[in-house]
Amino acid sequence: VAFTREDYAARMQRAARDAAAAGLAGLLVTPGPDLVWLCGYRPTAVTERLTLLVLAQDEEPHLLVPALERPDAAAAPGARAVRISEWRDGQDPYAVAAGLLRPNGHYGVSDSAWALHLLGLQEALPLTTYRALTTALPMLRAVKDTHEVARLAAAGAAADAVYEEILAVRFAGRREIDVAADLARLLLVHGHSQVDFTVVGSGPNGANPHHAAGDRVIEDGDMVVLDFGGLKDGYGSDISRTVHVGPPTDEERTVHELVRTAQQAAFEAVHPGVPCQEIDRVARAVIADAGYGDHFLHRTGHGIGVTTHEPPYLVAGEEQPLVPGMCFSIEPGIYLPGRFGVRIEDIVMCTEEGGRRLNVTSHEMAVVA
Ligand code: ZN
Ligand code: ZN
Ligand code: ZN
Repeated sequence: VAFTREDYAARMQRAARDAAAAGLAGLLVTPGPDLVWLCGYRPTAVTERLTLLVLAQDEEPHLLVPALERPDAAAAPGARAVRISEWRDGQDPYAVAAGLLRPNGHYGVSDSAWALHLLGLQEALPLTTYRALTTALPMLRAVKDTHEVARLAAAGAAADAVYEEILAVRFAGRREIDVAADLARLLLVHGHSQVDFTVVGSGPNGANPHHAAGDRVIEDGDMVVLDFGGLKDGYGSDISRTVHVGPPTDEERTVHELVRTAQQAAFEAVHPGVPCQEIDRVARAVIADAGYGDHFLHRTGHGIGVTTHEPPYLVAGEEQPLVPGMCFSIEPGIYLPGRFGVRIEDIVMCTEEGGRRLNVTSHEMAVVA
């Protein structure tokens, strides 16, 4: 289902309202995920030329674009809900933008706005002040509507299908990057438009949670952490499974089962009103109680939507309560330096009744060849 002009108008209206409630004069949004989410516009190239969406409560949303990109902007699905104006090469875009802003306003600005643009605005309006948009409004995109959930579920189903197909490829004797290339190809085959990551952590490389994929040749007896995802129809997938080449040892089985138990316990803890940090605590307790607490090196999860990493974060100290419609990963792991790692990750949605998995492929440790 395509998002309508009304969907985008409602998002922009809510963003402006939330900004006002947070004490901001408005939001200044440059190209990136927030701009896509708010008005459906993704410039074909992000350049030094200023593109700026200005949102303020009780004002019509205003999109300032370079004149030569106006046709692209006007074709965006949310464009009919915004007033578009342009600046031309030779003009000072910041002086033009200044005409849309309050001279002493305190604005939320896109996390990824170029310093070039923010400094330009500050020079044009020295009394303005700024906060990062995600710092000011961390939950702006966190609660997904039903159409967004449908897209996340479709992306999750595609990732599940990729996992089931990767089990049939040869692991032993091939390099990690070869299996990573298989994952990337399969993600595209299953409808992804963009591949964001294809982690293949074999043997000791699996103990490094940030290992991507390298030249190491996968061997019989290796545990292999697989973690892959990207965007399908503009919404993210992100799944981890850990497989074993040939029959695993008892210890490998035990560690894998422990991660699986932690993942399940965290999933069962998902209910509206439960603080994000509680999900992390539950997963961590299972692993710590078994003596592996020091080897669970990262937070339990992150939100997902038009990006593959965004609030809410399931991490100690995050008191934000879960709200129906929030979608996030639950991905505990155990990393044994020099030996192997295990991670199991599903995307989960919070519903009124509890968690709903958007990845449903098996958690059993698959044995591959
Ligand atoms: Zn092994
Ligand atoms: Zn992942
Ligand atoms: Zn993840």
